[in-house]
Amino acid sequence: MAGAAALILAGGSAVRFGGDMPKQYLKLAGRSLLRHCVETFIAHPDIDAIRVVIRAEDRALHDQALAGLDILDPVAGGATRQDSSFRGLESLSHLAPDRVLIHDAARPFIDPATINRIIKALDSHAAVLPAVPVIDTLKRATGVDEDLTVADTVDRDGLWRAQTPQGFRYDDIMNAHRICMGAGMGAGLTDDSAVAENAGLKVALVMGNEDNMKVTMPEDFERAERLIAGRSGETRIGTGFDVHQFGPGGHVVLCGVRIASDHGLVGHSDADAGLHALTDAILGAIGDGDIGSHFPPSDPKWRGAASDAFLRHAASLVMARGGRIVNVDVTLICEFPKIGPHRDAMTNRIAEILEIEPERVSVKATTTEKLGFTGRGEGIAAQAVASIRL
Ligand code: MG
Repeated sequence: MAGAAALILAGGSAVRFGGDMPKQYLKLAGRSLLRHCVETFIAHPDIDAIRVVIRAEDRALHDQALAGLDILDPVAGGATRQDSSFRGLESLSHLAPDRVLIHDAARPFIDPATINRIIKALDSHAAVLPAVPVIDTLKRATGVDEDLTVADTVDRDGLWRAQTPQGFRYDDIMNAHRICMGAGMGAGLTDDSAVAENAGLKVALVMGNEDNMKVTMPEDFERAERLIAGRSGETRIGTGFDVHQFGPGGHVVLCGVRIASDHGLVGHSDADAGLHALTDAILGAIGDGDIGSHFPPSDPKWRGAASDAFLRHAASLVMARGGRIVNVDVTLICEFPKIGPHRDAMTNRIAEILEIEPERVSVKATTTEKLGFTGRGEGIAAQAVASIRL
């Protein structure tokens, strides 16, 4: 093969945001970080083959994340980044590519223009690093926490922030890895450019892209979501309203949480006015009817049904349109039961059903100052707003 191959390193085990999934498999706008990277390389006309380096135990995650994409089978990485990179490079030897671009799966915003610059620079250089100049004034700090102080100002002249993909002539980077391994240099080399540098290769620098950020901390993920939201799509809003009457019974279900009460709520399903209002808000945002049209009260199937199913169905309709729920806000209007003690449980339950972070869910409560049917304790009203990004 005389062309260029892309090697994507996805062997990290760093788990973020309280989950148990390595971050390269976390979803950004419905696709994993890894898939964002792979799709960009697939779409590039100068990339002829793509291989992902994974942890052996992540094979199922890899297959799920990249389902339907035409790329080489993944290979298992090693104990260090350098080791993983070398194993990936070695696995390309049967293709004998002229050039290889080595990319970090935690950088989902790699763009075609940066890839172009790297491939072009490889016409005249054996190694190419995309980087962006350091613009901020740099300080070296000393101490910790409250005692953290500035030790000195670092001269930023000539300083650049390294990005990936880093491009190499294939034979040269293979040799560079062998030289570094032979010299016992391993764990300290944090990118392939460092491998090339240490092996005596001259590494050319081309302009990277400020958006080609590395998603490492939770705040990076938020920035990545803002970046992607700003690029495409539109925001939709929907509202919902529902009422159920108090009746006999010893509990109510509100926002998916069972609360002991002197009254029950009358309704065809479990009479969860909170989830009904929220379901209608989501259906409203995507312009797809209302809860009654999807789950007719005339259908005995829904008698006594837990309303989770209604809400889950509405969320699946959003997904089917390639959308995602940005946030939801529910207000429960009643004199009793007291909502405050159950608010966190309600928030978490809704987040669980919708498969979104609890930070995107709000549950509030109010009374109507003894006025009207809610004020007289005859029933409960709920209203909800949902914001959706399509
Ligand atoms: Mg209802």
